[in-house]
Amino acid sequence: MKCPFCGSLETQVIDSRVSETGDAIRRRRKCMNCDKRFTTFETVEMRMPQVVKSNGTRIDFNVEKIRTGFNRALHKRFVPTEFVDQAIARITANVHSLGEREISSRSIGEMVMAELYKLDKIAYIRFASVYKSFQDVEDFRSALHEVERPPGIKGGKAGAKPGSKGAAGPGNKARVAVVKSRPTSA
Ligand SMILES: [Zn+2]
Repeated sequence: MKCPFCGSLETQVIDSRVSETGDAIRRRRKCMNCDKRFTTFETVEMRMPQVVKSNGTRIDFNVEKIRTGFNRALHKRFVPTEFVDQAIARITANVHSLGEREISSRSIGEMVMAELYKLDKIAYIRFASVYKSFQDVEDFRSALHEVERPPGIKGGKAGAKPGSKGAAGPGNKARVAVVKSRPTSA
């Protein structure tokens, strides 16, 4: 470690201790050349990846944007801030642990949805409806299906049932009601 006073590389560690918060090592050093003392801190590098948006642009990972997403979805819901903080911390740790230089905004969105699913089903639907920009009743219906069973467990059928598009109005409403009335295992 180069001496900040004379530039000499001959320095000696005279004291070494972990910081009070436990996330840094503080070292007291003495320059062997000019005899001056200085302190260095050793911390874990928390470099977050760049977020690649759907239009291809790159932005810095911003935890406040994630919080805004949570707050919008959880508006007037009964979820303690502490739980939201923990969810955001899990997402941040998750993103960091991937060790990638870039991550898609879609992947982060999926993580937010997974956390909202655990926190509050209404907030999950709210977020999913904006995030997935539901095109029709069928999209909304499949999201309700996801609320009824854990995400990640994909059902056998893919895509919308043929013929369901024509039945707008009461018919679709009735089907949604059927989905909601199923006993929930959560
Ligand atoms: Zn020096």
